[in-house]
Amino acid sequence: MLDTTFTTQINLLSSQTIQLCYHCHKCTAGCPVAEDMEFGPDRVLRLVQLGEKERLLASHDIWLCAGCETCGTRCPNEIDIAQVMDALRQIAIAEGVRPAEPYAEKFHKVFMGVVRYMGRMHEASMLGAYKLWSMDLLSDMDSAPVMLLKGKVPLLPHLLKGRGEVRRIFEETSNVKRET
Ligand code: SF4
Ligand code: SF4
Repeated sequence: MLDTTFTTQINLLSSQTIQLCYHCHKCTAGCPVAEDMEFGPDRVLRLVQLGEKERLLASHDIWLCAGCETCGTRCPNEIDIAQVMDALRQIAIAEGVRPAEPYAEKFHKVFMGVVRYMGRMHEASMLGAYKLWSMDLLSDMDSAPVMLLKGKVPLLPHLLKGRGEVRRIFEETSNVKRET
């Protein structure tokens, strides 16, 4: 008999109903990184339905997903697959699974950390923190001055008034993850 514990856990964390997926493949056909993935979004959902936790947490796909949400907008059942990928990443981190894409995992942690403490994204802080943490100090340095001069990346963060609320949301969702 199929063990549905993992599927239920992902449903809860992502607020989606994975069982609705009938594998029409529309999500994978539109995914910009599907070619580089091992499974692609459609098969990731199939593996969630089958409870293939270890395969998914160790896969490259959960780290290669760019969270662009193209898949969700194409899905006839309105499944937000980006949320599913995020739930898989969070479980992998919480359970200490060695990431198949270590740089993507670092980037994800820095991204979430900036949102958690500033209440919103601030690209300059995120890039600075990522460069320091990954020790990848020199790549893309030629684009930085251009982006700053053109105002594409503001140097100073705009601090959100309700950032305490954002932190509270992070804390509450961490508690849900621990309980699932
Ligand atoms: S588009 Fe939706 S229903 Fe179709 S395979 Fe992807 S997730 Fe499943
Ligand atoms: S959110 Fe992830 S899985 Fe979906 S289309 Fe974008 S990159 Fe692909």
